[in-house]
Amino acid sequence: MTHPSTNDHIDNLLHENRVIAPPADFVARARLTREEYDRLYRRSLDDPDGFWSDVAGELHWMRRWDRVLDWQEPHAQWFVGGQTNVAYNALDRHVAAGRGDKTAILWEAEDGEVRRYSYAELLREVKRAANALTALGVEQGDRVTLYLPLIPEAAIAMLACARIGAIHSVVFGGFSVSALADRINDAQSKLLVTADAGQRRGSLVNLKANADEAARNTPSLEHMLVVCRANCDAPMQPGRDLWWHEALAAAGDEHEAAAVDSEHPLFVLYTSGSTGKPKGVLHTTGGYMVGTYLTTQTVFDLRDDDVYWCTADVGWVTGHSYSVYGPLLNGATVLMYEGAPNHPDWGRFWQLVERHRVSILYTAPTAIRSFMRQGDELPGRCDLSSLRLLGSVGEPINPEAWMWYYRVIGGERCPVVDTWWQTETGAIMLTTLPGAHPSKPGSAGLPMFGVEPAIMTHDGEELGPDDGGLLVIKRPWPSMLRTVYGDDERYRKSYWGEIPHVYFAGDGARRDADGYVTVMGRVDDVLNVSGHRLGTMEIESALVAHPAVAEAAVVGRPDEVKGEGVVAFVLPQAGFTVNAGELRAHVSREIGALARPDAIIVADALPKTRSGKIMRRFLRQIAAGKAIEGDTSTLEDPSVLERLAATPLG
Ligand code: ATP
Ligand code: MG
Repeated sequence: MTHPSTNDHIDNLLHENRVIAPPADFVARARLTREEYDRLYRRSLDDPDGFWSDVAGELHWMRRWDRVLDWQEPHAQWFVGGQTNVAYNALDRHVAAGRGDKTAILWEAEDGEVRRYSYAELLREVKRAANALTALGVEQGDRVTLYLPLIPEAAIAMLACARIGAIHSVVFGGFSVSALADRINDAQSKLLVTADAGQRRGSLVNLKANADEAARNTPSLEHMLVVCRANCDAPMQPGRDLWWHEALAAAGDEHEAAAVDSEHPLFVLYTSGSTGKPKGVLHTTGGYMVGTYLTTQTVFDLRDDDVYWCTADVGWVTGHSYSVYGPLLNGATVLMYEGAPNHPDWGRFWQLVERHRVSILYTAPTAIRSFMRQGDELPGRCDLSSLRLLGSVGEPINPEAWMWYYRVIGGERCPVVDTWWQTETGAIMLTTLPGAHPSKPGSAGLPMFGVEPAIMTHDGEELGPDDGGLLVIKRPWPSMLRTVYGDDERYRKSYWGEIPHVYFAGDGARRDADGYVTVMGRVDDVLNVSGHRLGTMEIESALVAHPAVAEAAVVGRPDEVKGEGVVAFVLPQAGFTVNAGELRAHVSREIGALARPDAIIVADALPKTRSGKIMRRFLRQIAAGKAIEGDTSTLEDPSVLERLAATPLG
């Protein structure tokens, strides 16, 4: 990464100033008011020991911690000396409190099959799975890779690992053989938990065949545990492979959760690879548990009768923290949907909301923009009145997409929380609290408890209101990553080495006078046009605000005069044609001539990671007329690149 040493400011061009107040009846019932947020946030910074002891004290510890934080920059230990178990807190604790009959997981498959697990049933399955893992020789500290569809067994396997102190590494079921093999080797996993197949858009994805192929080059693997999801006729290698249902049937349903140290590793998870080679992010037990517990409860204003749906796959951190750990730690009812959002059509999500009376929906801008592209009719056909809160995560959400989500899905009745965080942060860092703060579409908002953000130059100079710069966090927080698995040097350098004594997130941002932080894109993606540094997010937002544009990705390309020119890749809104000249004029009008695209490429798809994020590094290569280089293994559909490279510039 190269940084100009003199001017690190990112110019702030977008003048988005809509402010949406939370609905009065939501405010009246909210868990936290504005005053409570202010008081608790202050305390979390002034008296972190007291604040975090109170939160951690709501959970079960087999041994109480001696010290809240031990900080030897850049290594933090939280709840030092404490012993606990995340699975115990997510399951046994609720069953012991008489809530065993409450639905924990409500699962729907693409073909419409529905399964339901109460907390007591889920606990029994997790205990059996824990016994089965132990019988296969998995011990505390051993790594277990999970390569599964989004089925309840994925959550059960994660919790079973946590229960015995094994470290899980979930690899998204859509990843290829080589991506799977690389991750197994990096973690040196002993066991792979997979399935015979998964369902996607009506067809079967043969996970076991991929697993078998990967296993040819993964010497650390001893066993495979295979969930029968489809028809159970996958070839099994005797001595190595076992069926999940047989192993669980043979296992007892008594199991005591292991008391592990607060700093015992809980999982390794590889980042999505939007900017480069994925990093194996390591999270540990106590701090991660406390962070996901608190943020799920407060950001989602969680109540006992909510039906909570986070649409993320467990292959991503959002699926870890907000489909499994956070909501189960809070005793919530979680909906899980295995399948594509557009199967059989783009109305599927809204039918799920109606059928299961979903009250909290948490999804990604990429999905919101895809729905928006299809128009208002499909959601309009469903009863969405059960919804009371909407969330967004994964990328900056363009104000236009925010407004659509708020208006069409939320019926202007549901607050929208735009949550900024990363695989590395473990839990939500910046957001508004739904009943406490007004929303500013496009801006994530305020820091969560214990989070102290700042906007800095690369030299560590703190910038004032509205100046764009680098987003950093000034102190450790409980759910932060502890290291990059097997590469502590990379951890030190990438996160704590860029700017002295602060955590460097890799994103560009600005903060307004009210303290709201707006993420302007990744620092790697910032453009330098005639000496002005521009965030990609703002130009993209202006493009998406045009009625003919459904989605946009902006990158720079070398320009002899300006240093860098602006190249925009745009996806037309269904039923519209894009006029390049008109779009240029629109951008000039909306945010200024500086941001006017030099070239516009009308595309039928954008290169995205499998988690749905735009990969601008490849677009930069296409814009510059270069050959595609770098790791393409996390791309959803590599053929998009060839099609784009062959499309003329407008
Ligand atoms: P890699 O680090 O391998 O390039 P990645 O950064 O996409 O991949 P994640 O940890 O899944 O991997 O994503 C975190 C990033 O996603 C953030 O750094 C930020 O760029 C973006 N992001 C997530 N949520 C938001 C949000 N609400 N607003 C703006 N950006 C967001
Ligand atoms: Mg990242």
